[in-house]
Amino acid sequence: MQVLLINANYAPLAVVTLPRAMRLLARQKAEVLETDARAITTGTEGVTVARPLVMRMRSYVWAKLIRHPNVSRPLVIARDGETCQYCGCQPGRAQLTLDHVLPRAQGGESSWENLVAACRACNAHKANRTPEQAGMVLRSQPRRMMLSVASRIDLSAREVWGQYGYH
Ligand SMILES: [Zn+2]
Repeated sequence: MQVLLINANYAPLAVVTLPRAMRLLARQKAEVLETDARAITTGTEGVTVARPLVMRMRSYVWAKLIRHPNVSRPLVIARDGETCQYCGCQPGRAQLTLDHVLPRAQGGESSWENLVAACRACNAHKANRTPEQAGMVLRSQPRRMMLSVASRIDLSAREVWGQYGYH
């Protein structure tokens, strides 16, 4: 029973045991991002809760950055500071979409260098055009993200963890 611990910037940080994860929660050092609804566990004060699969530290923990993760929606949105890269709005993680800077229709790839966070309005306005064609300006040039290495792998949780760049 292990939990993937994500840094405040969404980079995978470590794989920790469930008791350690529950202690981090009890001390409000971390928040739960994903749970396994099929499994319950006993939290603080004997309350039963869904078993956490992925937790995020509330403040940044410094770790050695040595690994390139696969591109994924949560990581692109985290890299872009949960900010639309066209208008700069911050509607919240769930409201942001991924935009292909060079549209797929024009041969654009789903890569770190070609994906940015965009709000729904900007994404709809840009449609199948490049920023230049749409008269829009990118706030930053999209780049690859670096991640820290986590130690061990819990096979049952691996699919969910994969969305957070752990593989
Ligand atoms: Zn926008």
